[in-house]
Amino acid sequence: MRIGGFQKCSLIDYPGKLSAIIFTLGCNFKCSYCHNPELVNPELFPEPIPEGDILAFLARRKGKLDALVITGGEPTLQKDLVEFALKVKELGFLVKLDTNGSNSCILEKLIGIVDYVAMDIKAPLEKYHRVSNSNIDTGEIKKSIELIMNSDRDYEFRTTVVKSELEESDILKIGELIQGARLFVLQKYAVPEKNVRELPAYSDDKFREFQSIIAGFVQKCIIR
Ligand code: SF4
Repeated sequence: MRIGGFQKCSLIDYPGKLSAIIFTLGCNFKCSYCHNPELVNPELFPEPIPEGDILAFLARRKGKLDALVITGGEPTLQKDLVEFALKVKELGFLVKLDTNGSNSCILEKLIGIVDYVAMDIKAPLEKYHRVSNSNIDTGEIKKSIELIMNSDRDYEFRTTVVKSELEESDILKIGELIQGARLFVLQKYAVPEKNVRELPAYSDDKFREFQSIIAGFVQKCIIR
């Protein structure tokens, strides 16, 4: 595992649980609104944190922490992610995976191991290349959505809604893409503290409109 960041405690990243978070190095997308360029651009990668340090920390926190969140970057690019997730489970922790859904083969192996999956829906399929600035095979996105929805895991789909990337009609198409999902999260673009350019945001009223659009497609839609 190539781990570029570690947060010892979070109350918000795993719903209802106290979690630690690791941030893996590398991503196959280049979203314009990415908050973690140091995890995406190899030239900015920090010194990796040894996996053993994370496992030792968790072993010391048994009974105090509930879960480990594995985020990135894109965690499914890590060749030993399945083995790592199993080690964390063996220590007695819940595992949440954050993914961009671009690697359905790894997700298929992980879906029976992890307890919670949060998958980004970047855009309607026809806009994926532009919004993710990648040549992603959108068939992978569809497969990942199906894998998650057909699993018995806790999950959420989530979209960061940035005005320059998504229009109202795109929200409707995203709803169609994840029709029947248990939970969808509309994420506001948080203005970054540094290093990343500020982007125009939709108003709170507009977000509520988007929420009512998506509510027609999914069981529950929240704004975060
Ligand atoms: S998928 Fe996530 S980590 Fe990768 S570039 Fe997009 S926002 Fe950044």
